[in-house]
Amino acid sequence: MRVLVAGGAGYIGSHTAVQLAEAGHTPIIADNFANSSPEVITRIESLVGKVEFHEVDLTDRRATAELFASCRPDAVIHFAALKAVGESVERPLDYYETNFGTLFSVLGAMKEAGTKILVFSSSATVYGGDHPPFTEEDEELVALSPYGYTKLASERILTDVAAATDLHIGLLRYFNPVGGHPSGTMGEDPRGIPNNLMPYLSQVAVGRREKLTVFGDDYPTPDGTCLRDYLHVMDLADAHVAALERLAKGDISVRTWNFGTGKGTSVLELREAFEKACGRPIPYEIGPRRAGDRADSWADPSRAEEELGWKASRTIDDMCADSWRWQSMNPRGYGQ
Ligand code: UDP
Repeated sequence: MRVLVAGGAGYIGSHTAVQLAEAGHTPIIADNFANSSPEVITRIESLVGKVEFHEVDLTDRRATAELFASCRPDAVIHFAALKAVGESVERPLDYYETNFGTLFSVLGAMKEAGTKILVFSSSATVYGGDHPPFTEEDEELVALSPYGYTKLASERILTDVAAATDLHIGLLRYFNPVGGHPSGTMGEDPRGIPNNLMPYLSQVAVGRREKLTVFGDDYPTPDGTCLRDYLHVMDLADAHVAALERLAKGDISVRTWNFGTGKGTSVLELREAFEKACGRPIPYEIGPRRAGDRADSWADPSRAEEELGWKASRTIDDMCADSWRWQSMNPRGYGQ
């Protein structure tokens, strides 16, 4: 299939573009590099050969429609959105404009071009229940930040659109994607001080940060630090291919799938695994809790296994080894 990867220069999008090509599909990447770098395209091409790339601002409806008219994709995987929870609290309007703007442009352009398949990036942040594991059937959903609200509302918008059209839509709820391509060619490259744990650990290991601050050790968990379901980005990239191929069968209107391993790992456990992977000490201190953090979150990933034949296969050690390979080979990320 010709697959438009909207936001394909981003962290998950770039790995997905590579896995699409490996699976025999043709990725067509669109990005405006708002939170990424043209170097990503070079890296993708070093792995899978020449790819079609378009520099487009996907909040621009006319430009998006023209893109679809010229490349006529069979399907869209829509990653193009802002994703930092804390920043969304400070700049809510930017988040609403960008995340809804790109969604509306893509839906409008799909209608004009007759594209029927859409895979949408959602997030486990929508789960509001007290206790994991979370299943797709959980009814207690929350929006704890403007970012979270864009995901929750986009799911609702897409559910309404699916009911009224003949589109085939997948809502993919990601848990905590980490790691990078096993070659060390691609990985996560946050701008500024990383918000997320894995890139922070990598930057401490490579000497860019002095030490990790663990946000709270008084949670009701075995070691007092928060539990999360870390998932290798290559497994997540494969999940997009599996969802796309399932939607292409044509019998699904809209369906939600969780993507996680089904296991929780604590902050201290991840730190220790990373230390082992990089062979360097990762100094840390215990700090106060971070506002908005929940104690634990992990997926029930059984629906994805039953319906897509997808199961996470990479371990926490693989995730740390690949994050470290990426960071040590590219200490400054895509800026090298
Ligand atoms: N965390 C931490 N120090 C950091 C960054 C994150 O202790 O510098 C903790 C955070 O409190 C959470 C876990 O690591 O318990 C995962 O955080 P991340 O931001 O990566 O994912 P999310 O909270 O969005 O699930």
